[in-house]
Amino acid sequence: MIIARSFLNKTVAVMGLARSGKAAIESLVLGGARVLAWDDDPKRREEVSGVGAEITDLHDINLKDIDALVMSPGIPHSFPKPHPVAAKAKTSGVPIIGDIDIFAQNSRNTPVIGVTGTNGKSTTSSLIGHLLSHSNISNEVAGNIGRPVLEISLDPGPDFIVLELSSYQLELSPSLGCSIAVLLNITPDHLDRHGGMDGYVRAKRRIFDKLIYDPKIIIGIDDQITRSIYQQLKHETDFSVIPISGYEIPKEGVGVKSGNLRSRLPSTPKCEINLKRMKTLIGGHNYQNAAAAVAIALSLGVEQPEIEVALQCFKGLPHRQELVKKLFGVNFINDSKATNFDATERALSSFKSIYWIAGGLSKNDRITESFFKKLENVEHAFFIGSSENEFFDFFKDSTPCTKCSNLEIAVKRAASAACSEKKENPVVLLSPAAASFDQFESYEARGEQFKSIVGSLNLEKFSNLEITT
Ligand code: ADP
Repeated sequence: MIIARSFLNKTVAVMGLARSGKAAIESLVLGGARVLAWDDDPKRREEVSGVGAEITDLHDINLKDIDALVMSPGIPHSFPKPHPVAAKAKTSGVPIIGDIDIFAQNSRNTPVIGVTGTNGKSTTSSLIGHLLSHSNISNEVAGNIGRPVLEISLDPGPDFIVLELSSYQLELSPSLGCSIAVLLNITPDHLDRHGGMDGYVRAKRRIFDKLIYDPKIIIGIDDQITRSIYQQLKHETDFSVIPISGYEIPKEGVGVKSGNLRSRLPSTPKCEINLKRMKTLIGGHNYQNAAAAVAIALSLGVEQPEIEVALQCFKGLPHRQELVKKLFGVNFINDSKATNFDATERALSSFKSIYWIAGGLSKNDRITESFFKKLENVEHAFFIGSSENEFFDFFKDSTPCTKCSNLEIAVKRAASAACSEKKENPVVLLSPAAASFDQFESYEARGEQFKSIVGSLNLEKFSNLEITT
């Protein structure tokens, strides 16, 4: 646990008591702060009883004497409408920060590799951690990936902390300084929380605000927005700015073309790796993630043979194009983490003969021409959740579509179609392009349900057929 010594004898309010809020309380109490804590959900309040905070309804008290308000990144502080406690803190002039900022103030100079982007953050963060560990460079991976950074021990501290950073977290971390800052890509997402696209891009760019210790910037050039940020930074900053791509080999950068990764970094040894052999890194988007991780490994002196072996044994993350099972010739793929059209477009580009399951809580994203083009890989689409009518209307003229209302019906119909139509290497793909909260607690719960339905398929009418995993 990181001790929040910078808050000794201060009074701090913590709003939002999920895992990172709880860790914030513990860290602040250890650091000698008085902590007032609240969550609008009584169950969450109960869960932190005994952790050392005073459970106090922050809606009712005067916040003027509070030194800082620590907000959970999930709670809106500005858009679409500030939570009442955030609004009160603003009028009282109380700084609003997140757990990452407590870490930044108390990190004892441990170098941070920060990773942000619309998609690919978790995969890239864990791949960076994996490549470094493989070469005995100690590291801890934390942040938005689901492990609160304050839970890390700095006694002894690792060589690096790899921090996955969402746009919400970046807005609440004014003290954070990265020594390596990675921006993978930017496409529209969470626009309601940032007051539009400009606000979203501004939040992402905060990763470059306070670079420290001979810093490096690693930046994707596969979308227009990050490509123009790259051009701008290359001219404006003296730091090393390394372009990465999943589709081309950029000058003075690291990229992948037709599955072959190559480095053109000026002061590191040559590196050429065939990524087609890496089972968990399929598709141009994963090539982009690999290019980012390899750029970092090479910059830290790791050599090609070690990188190659590490890439080969990378297990990938659950719910991201995860192969659940191969059942009577059909691959069942769980991509529940694809909660927007950009992420789903990547999955639709990675396979052919797709029986596509999508829908959930719509994010009202714009659907691009290039997304519609990928539907040529789809044999049939099966829609679920509160967006099923909307999705049906979007796609009914482009591909055969069926409304299924829930995941169980969709999986069974997709499996049955995939089995009977006998296409080459058919894939039943859950890649929802929507959030999960209309029918599930989380994208993980949605993915787990998909796996369990797939697991039970063999117990039903398919039970007499051969199964390979
Ligand atoms: P994040 O943590 O940013 O949400 P993940 O690594 O969890 O990213 O992947 C989320 C979804 O985005 C998955 O469906 C995955 O296939 C897709 N994805 C992964 N990397 C990229 C990338 N570089 N560009 C676009 N989509 C990606």
